[in-house]
Amino acid sequence: MKAAQAVVDHCRHIATYSEVSGQTTRTFLSPPMRGVHEYLTNWMRSLGMSTRLDRAGNLRGTYGQGPAFVIASHLDTVPNAGAFDGILGVVMGIMLVELLAGEPCSVEVIGFSEEEGVRFGVPFIGSRSWMGDRMLLDRPDVAEVIRAYGLDPSADEPAGNYRGYLEFHIEQGPVLESLNLPLAVVDSIVGLSRWELTFTGHANHAGTTPMPLRRDALAAAAEWILAVEAEGQADGVATVGHLQLEPNARNAINGQVVASLDVRHPRDEVRLAAVERLLARASANAARRGVSVTSRLHLDQVAVPMDPALTQQLADAVEGGAHRMTSGAGHDAMIVAPHLPAAMLFLRSPGGVSHHPTENVLVEDVVAALQVGMRFLKCLN
Ligand SMILES: [Zn+2]
Repeated sequence: MKAAQAVVDHCRHIATYSEVSGQTTRTFLSPPMRGVHEYLTNWMRSLGMSTRLDRAGNLRGTYGQGPAFVIASHLDTVPNAGAFDGILGVVMGIMLVELLAGEPCSVEVIGFSEEEGVRFGVPFIGSRSWMGDRMLLDRPDVAEVIRAYGLDPSADEPAGNYRGYLEFHIEQGPVLESLNLPLAVVDSIVGLSRWELTFTGHANHAGTTPMPLRRDALAAAAEWILAVEAEGQADGVATVGHLQLEPNARNAINGQVVASLDVRHPRDEVRLAAVERLLARASANAARRGVSVTSRLHLDQVAVPMDPALTQQLADAVEGGAHRMTSGAGHDAMIVAPHLPAAMLFLRSPGGVSHHPTENVLVEDVVAALQVGMRFLKCLN
């Protein structure tokens, strides 16, 4: 209980290192990140860990000898963030080293420098670099920030010899709370399709254009949006989150609507089939109204399964059996999993809230997660 309360206290303290006073905003290698690095470095060194910053500004702390098991998450935040997204996974890792002190285990804790994609519009700078992907480090703007931080983005990193990867993370959704459960083991991270559809009709006067003579792009889009909702209700999740209307006036029929489409599912073939149905549906619906539709693919991200054996070991470490679920959001584990056996444990998000100052975690859930972490790491040896 004391250790769990300390985990929460550390996260709350780290939340005070911010680019904006009165809130928590800490992007990739921004000035307050130095304070976080110093704070965590002091803690890790007091436990006998050796620490360093790597070429991407990832904070690395190692404990013990031989091939290490990695516990990691990210230290950057979204603007006006809560105290636990990412940070919790790093603090949990260090606390487990503290609790396991004396056990013959080899653990590396990593605080990734960047996951949220806020500063440069591209996410996962930290974990991608750790997995050997130099692409983002070679971007001049990213490289400049790394150099300004006193690091060398062109440095070679020794390929580590690792046994596996574990990420603790808040769920960032309402599922565990609705089930009244503290924890879940993540089976896979969903695949994601992002499209943009343009409905083109004819803009005209809302008073003088009789209903049968209209080509209302918004009415066509609206009918389709309900079909998107129905598709999601049948399986997975599907969302239209953004609309751009032309002319968007109170006394006019809209001639053009640009709509976003976001479809996610743990099985790629199901996701792709849903997208195909929705694109066909958009054209068919709109055609009846004299509205045409064009579509453009923005993002096609495949689903990433966690390692089945390691995930089973993690589930076995959950007392009373583990609830298993897919993650609807991306995490560093998604970048790591194709290269290294990876597993993920979710902690309940009170109120389902995340990316918000009221983001929280229950101390009793941290107790449960620390127990799982201890059992899991002990049985690896
Ligand atoms: Zn996160």
